[in-house]
Amino acid sequence: AKYVYSFGGKTADGDGKMKELLGGKGANLAEMCKIGIPVPPGFTITTEVCAAYYEQGKKIPDATVPQIDEALKKVEAEFGKKFGDPADPLLVSVRSGAALSMPGMMNTILNLGLTDASVEGLAKKTGNDRFAYDSYRRLIDMFGSTAMGLEHEHFEHELHSMKEAKGVKLDTDLSADDLKELVKRYKAVYKKDVGEDFPQDPKKQLMLAINAVFNSWNGHKAIEYRRIERITGLKGTAVNVQAMVFGNMGGGSGTGVAFTRDPNTGEDVFYGDYLINAQGEDVVAGIRTPEPISKLGEDMPKVYEQLVGIRAALEKHYKEMQDIEFTVQEGVLFMLQTRTGKRTGTAAVRIAVEMVKEGLIDETTAVKRVAPDSLNHLLQPQLDPKAKNKPVAQGIAASPGAASGMVLLSAEAVVAHAEKHPNDPILLVRKETSPEDVAGMHLAKGILTSTGGKASHAAVVARGWGKPCVVGCEAVKIDEAAQTVTIAGTVVKAGEFVTINGTTGDVMIGKVPTVPPSMTGDFATLMTWADKVRKLKIRTNADSPADAAKAREFGAEGIGLCRTEHMFFGKDRIAAVREMILAPDVEGRTKALAKIEPFQKADFVGLFEVMDGLPVTIRLLDPPLHEFLPQKDNVAGAEEVAKQTGTTVEKIFERVEELHEMNPMMGFRGCRLPLVFPEIGDMQVRAIIEAAIEVKKKGKSVLPEIMIPLVGVVEELAILKKRAIAVAEECMKQAGVKVEYQIGTMIELPRACIAADKIAEEAEFFSFGTNDLTQMTFGFSRDDIKGFMPTYLRDKILPIDPFQTIDFNGVGELMKIGIQKGRGSRTAKHSQHLKVGICGEHGGDPDSVVFCHAIGMDYVSCSPFRVPIARLAAAQAAL
Ligand code: PEP
Ligand code: MG
Repeated sequence: AKYVYSFGGKTADGDGKMKELLGGKGANLAEMCKIGIPVPPGFTITTEVCAAYYEQGKKIPDATVPQIDEALKKVEAEFGKKFGDPADPLLVSVRSGAALSMPGMMNTILNLGLTDASVEGLAKKTGNDRFAYDSYRRLIDMFGSTAMGLEHEHFEHELHSMKEAKGVKLDTDLSADDLKELVKRYKAVYKKDVGEDFPQDPKKQLMLAINAVFNSWNGHKAIEYRRIERITGLKGTAVNVQAMVFGNMGGGSGTGVAFTRDPNTGEDVFYGDYLINAQGEDVVAGIRTPEPISKLGEDMPKVYEQLVGIRAALEKHYKEMQDIEFTVQEGVLFMLQTRTGKRTGTAAVRIAVEMVKEGLIDETTAVKRVAPDSLNHLLQPQLDPKAKNKPVAQGIAASPGAASGMVLLSAEAVVAHAEKHPNDPILLVRKETSPEDVAGMHLAKGILTSTGGKASHAAVVARGWGKPCVVGCEAVKIDEAAQTVTIAGTVVKAGEFVTINGTTGDVMIGKVPTVPPSMTGDFATLMTWADKVRKLKIRTNADSPADAAKAREFGAEGIGLCRTEHMFFGKDRIAAVREMILAPDVEGRTKALAKIEPFQKADFVGLFEVMDGLPVTIRLLDPPLHEFLPQKDNVAGAEEVAKQTGTTVEKIFERVEELHEMNPMMGFRGCRLPLVFPEIGDMQVRAIIEAAIEVKKKGKSVLPEIMIPLVGVVEELAILKKRAIAVAEECMKQAGVKVEYQIGTMIELPRACIAADKIAEEAEFFSFGTNDLTQMTFGFSRDDIKGFMPTYLRDKILPIDPFQTIDFNGVGELMKIGIQKGRGSRTAKHSQHLKVGICGEHGGDPDSVVFCHAIGMDYVSCSPFRVPIARLAAAQAAL
């Protein structure tokens, strides 16, 4: 079998499509060679070898070795140097590269092939002792710390004491002799920690380095990253071995990283950073603050012009925004990498829309390109332009959006704090971040660093997650020991609030108020393209005219769930609601309900007016009644309620005691309430129909849908439906106005799915309440999963939290049964199409939306801010 794929000199064994086998980096290196872009020659060891490595107990399969030898010979021939040649050595880099990019997660080793003998050759050949010994000490450090697992700090320590002894600040101020001495010390560190000499056989270095890359696939950082990004099902990483070119050979050399468009905003500008006289990792490590790419036009005009040409060629070829790495060795440009660039949601939308306008892609491709969840980025609250907090400092705008959070100074502190207070907003403030920090970065609301550029670790990772981030803010001085940061002179203690604006780079002291976002420009354009292809209708879950209006602005085509209990908590009526619950008999309840009714009616009038002719599904009261009363030990609350309702604290606690349930989620709630207290249901139905009549009289059209919750047997629905029809008919008769309305049910119990054929004989529509359906199917209380769900996810007992994405195999199967049986009997019995939707939280989850499309639902309903996400997910499901 073929384990090793060569590339270089305008040819390659592989190509850009072979990502699974060659990893993203390897496949794109091959592709770049094929389209004539200058790439240093090399070869890729496949991901299958990584899989075999682990199958064979961490051993590279024998058959790979001769193929590596042969590929190395090709590189030598192409590059005109020999690996290990003491006079003029070929040096190589060894890098990881999985099918999906995992920035900074896996090991890289540069300058392999240098030995005590060949370092002399390199020095002579280049006439640059300093460069040769600097390369050698970097190799010993990288090789020691990544391939052999030594502490990088031990090498750093030697470097620092050397700089101190010489009285210099920068690495670049050390002389060739200093570096020669440093190599000696590094070798001593290596020997002390490993127990043998630094290997002088280049081939041995190479094989150990390849092993190290394979090992890093299952390193802590890589595992953590795959967990957070939910990356599963990959074979492993490929290994790319490539001839080294040097950006640290003096003023005519350099290295950089760039994006072919701005990954924050999507603007069509060349965006990136470079450093003169620097090697690979220097630009991304955030140690030296690099120069913006546009300045390369001044430093190296020829190279810049060529690079600009390559930027255009790559975009034309890939028809996608690229993230590139390049090195200039003594005036000659080499491309080291190209890959699809990570971008914020804002940028994703703008790039997709502009590429359609440029004729690079079509509308369908644009719709497919944008990850629905990434729209979150455009749906973040924006800083209130009227806020009083003024920016006190400015850094580099690395990932847009605003974040106010409590300052914490280490990733570990974030993790520890979030465990205790998961809802606290945290702003992680660091000098720079590294792959070790990802868990804490993920939990933070935003990230602020004092060093680093647009391609620093913090910037790249934050952007990938759509998390606000400001980097390179030099006015931020961190004192870890004192647990303070000083921002432009203001001292902020850990735990106090700071706000960043990742769109502008602004940093503000304190909390800054925000305003809701709106949908305009490219965002609106992309949505109209999505609407052209989607089949599912998108509704919203809304209980107030304001929410409904926002949802309509985002494109909602109706209300799929109005939870009337939320209206019961209104300040103007909660007293009457409590009076109703406390009433000893039907007369008392009826009297209290009469007080609530005008409020309910006014609520519905408001909703109907905003929705103006679009369907509005109103669910009758669902939660157990005790939720409206103070808790057992809340004496102050009870005293207030006693005053409000003209009763005593004792009476209230008596009633609370009566209503107490061991298992309220499976208790006296849902349709069970109006079955036992019909007057509650009557009041709500009357309010709905009278509101509809009133709005209709104003000349608007109304489409009320009355929804009965938590139905398990058809008789529940049959009784409540009959009663609702009687009430509705009476209202219409009195008003002398007819309105169209429907009566349907929520499907949120397993029994309702199984008996859906019977239920559909009565129901005019089904709406899957997948919150309860998941709870009741798994027997997981939706409010009590935190004790075991983390373990379930960690141990892969469940692939994903079923309250977030529909459990396709269990809950999903029940849904399929429900739809099939329900539609079948509705058609047979009434010759009608049974309208089916979903209104559980899953209605706004992209993967669940795709599932809902696949099982033939008519609509999904989700919270207002997820409506655009659902529109896009529904479009992608249809493509
Ligand atoms: C559901 O159960 O999915 C639902 C929408 O109802 P609620 O969340 O109000 O119980
Ligand atoms: Mg429910």
